Amino acid sequence: TTYFIDGQFTSKDSLKLSIDDRGYYFGDGVYEVVKVYDGELFTAEEHFARLSQSASKIKMAIPYSEQQLIDIAKELVKVNEVKTGHIYLQVTRGASPRVHQFPELAVTPVVTAYAIHNPRPLSNIEGGISVKSVEDVRWLRCDIKSLNLLANVLAKQEAYESGCAEAIFVRDGFVMEGSSSNAFGVKNGVLITHPASNLILNGITRQVVLKLCNEMGIPVEERAFTPEEMYAMDEFFITSTTAEITPVVLIDEKPVGTGKPGEITRKLQEAFARQIPLSVAR
Ligand code: PMP
Repeated sequence: TTYFIDGQFTSKDSLKLSIDDRGYYFGDGVYEVVKVYDGELFTAEEHFARLSQSASKIKMAIPYSEQQLIDIAKELVKVNEVKTGHIYLQVTRGASPRVHQFPELAVTPVVTAYAIHNPRPLSNIEGGISVKSVEDVRWLRCDIKSLNLLANVLAKQEAYESGCAEAIFVRDGFVMEGSSSNAFGVKNGVLITHPASNLILNGITRQVVLKLCNEMGIPVEERAFTPEEMYAMDEFFITSTTAEITPVVLIDEKPVGTGKPGEITRKLQEAFARQIPLSVAR
């Protein structure tokens, strides 16, 4: 496997990363995951634009342009012959002896990336998943796609230990998003999802879904909703780059609607599949 590590296309063994990297010490960095379908990056411009925004929000300058990052990602897909999978790319603030304040300007951020084969999660997409609500103990800048994912890790683990595939964060009595996904309900034909704010990550897949709703004439309410409203939804689903549109059929052990993936969820999945190469979408 060929990786991109700090300016070089190289193997994992020749990997030279400093113990002083601020990614290890502080999770001081940002990242993106970009889906690859049939050897092509999906919504790459949107992902790398968000990476730039995340970096600027933590006052970090990425030493590559968005176009250069796209070219690096494309090269990784090519040399690793990835057909269906994803790119992971992260940028840390660089290596410098451990003090909290930013290092000297001479320290450049470190970019690492890889391309990996990863099939679409078709059985979840077909049959749906169970989720568990957990208290959202994250900080107040969830709009930043930061490497600091400890609260997300703990939430996902708690969900897994309860036999659930995702955790749904609840903050101050309102449903926010998943531990690595956005959350949507459907009630009486209306799609409801938390508005993009500092309290959630504005997912690229979320934005694709909202655009599809607009095109398909599905009414959308971007507003916070309570766990009680969530339990009473006719349909529920989560979205992410890798999960795409995954129906939720059980929330805190309570069936959603009929207990099967809903009609509008199915319509959105079909519309989403039309956005990706035919050979992959079937
Ligand atoms: N929220 C969180 C907390 C996430 O980690 C992710 C996945 N990166 C998402 C939402 C979904 O974002 P996207 O659709 O861009 O993958």
